[in-house]
Amino acid sequence: MISLKKSQKLFVEGQKHLVGAVNSPVRAFSSVGGNPIFIKKARGSIIVDVDNNKYVDMVLSYGPMILGHKHKLVQNAITKATKNGYSFGASTQSEITLAGMVCDAFAKMDKVRFVNSGTEAVFSALRLARAFTGKDKIIKFSGCYHGHADSLLVAAGSGLATLSLPGSKGVPEDAVKNTLIAEYNNLESVETLVSANKDIAAIIIEPIAGNMGVVVPDDCFIKGLNKLAKENNILIIADEVMTGFRSKFGGAQDLIELNADITCLGKVIGGGFPVGAYGARNEIMEMVAPLGGMYQAGTLSGNPIAMAAGIATLRELKKQNPYSKFEDNARLIEEALLNSAKEFGVDLQVNKFGSMINPFFTDKSVTNFESAQNSDTEKFKVFFWELAENGVFIPPSQYEAWFLSSSLADKDVKKVVKSIRLALKKVSRL
Ligand SMILES: *Cc1c(COP(=O)(O)O)cnc(C)c1O
Repeated sequence: MISLKKSQKLFVEGQKHLVGAVNSPVRAFSSVGGNPIFIKKARGSIIVDVDNNKYVDMVLSYGPMILGHKHKLVQNAITKATKNGYSFGASTQSEITLAGMVCDAFAKMDKVRFVNSGTEAVFSALRLARAFTGKDKIIKFSGCYHGHADSLLVAAGSGLATLSLPGSKGVPEDAVKNTLIAEYNNLESVETLVSANKDIAAIIIEPIAGNMGVVVPDDCFIKGLNKLAKENNILIIADEVMTGFRSKFGGAQDLIELNADITCLGKVIGGGFPVGAYGARNEIMEMVAPLGGMYQAGTLSGNPIAMAAGIATLRELKKQNPYSKFEDNARLIEEALLNSAKEFGVDLQVNKFGSMINPFFTDKSVTNFESAQNSDTEKFKVFFWELAENGVFIPPSQYEAWFLSSSLADKDVKKVVKSIRLALKKVSRL
């Protein structure tokens, strides 16, 4: 048994002045039982907790650490940037550099605005879509998570799915009355909403859903969305906060041929620092202040240290081009999951896309939120802790994607494969 003594001590201490000892509910271990693991440090593919247990990290800060932890070039870039100061409330060259790199990676993005989180990127994009179209309603899909803005905390994935919450307390009816909910991979559910509502400004979607576990869209679903949006003057907002730069240098929207009008980014483009962004073609972005009348601002937006981390991360990502290696490693992990599940007679589905993958404990294929919720979360609990015992750290939730980084070495993959087998063996004894 691994010792988690110091983590337990910090968990007790932390609860005094922090809510549940965490600053984000996904870090609580409520759905897997036991106490949260407190982290001391990480480097490359390995994360170390306060009790000095070492794990191959497949959480990767929920996505940002695509090069692995504490990459040398990122570290150097940050160190260099801090020598000039930390924040100025005025523009710097680094913002222009990162904006150029991001816009170059998206065919239909002429301009971008940097903010401090994915949440901020998304709620700003909604405001922009409403400003541009002059319409109020939006369609979102159940199981997709778009940050914690009031109007988006309905039928949301991520922590709400983990905690089985339908929405959030404190959100007034008025804040969600313009949010319409459709089902992922179900074009008809979107068509019904579009024909019944005249004033839809935008359809917001995770191109590859990652916050109900990984769910990949059908071709005809995406084709249908493109067509519906075009015919009805509805903007498509691609929430690529998770998927941006994860499965190619740019957006997953290219790989599935989603015609996004506005794209939201976060996670990877900050390289571990708080950065979000939304971008679109000129015509749309020129609505944003100071060029236009849609207001959105931020004291720390485009922070020079965060920009330096983002630039170094994207530069290195472009140079390494790890995307086919991601596919290979994801395939090995998928095979391990499926083969071991078969060996021990455990009902299991595996969904993956690029460097995102996760198993669902169910015998039915998972194509939307409803089918994701067929999963046996009791089995997941046992699986999670047995992986931890064997040196692999995955998100403490059935409804979160596992991430791969370019620092994952062959020996790390071997360890993950071996640990998966042991964990599924234990699950089969339930
Ligand atoms: C993580 C995430 C967000 C929210 O980003 P934060 O930086 O946590 O505010 C929004 N949308 C998607 C798809 C995400 O995965």
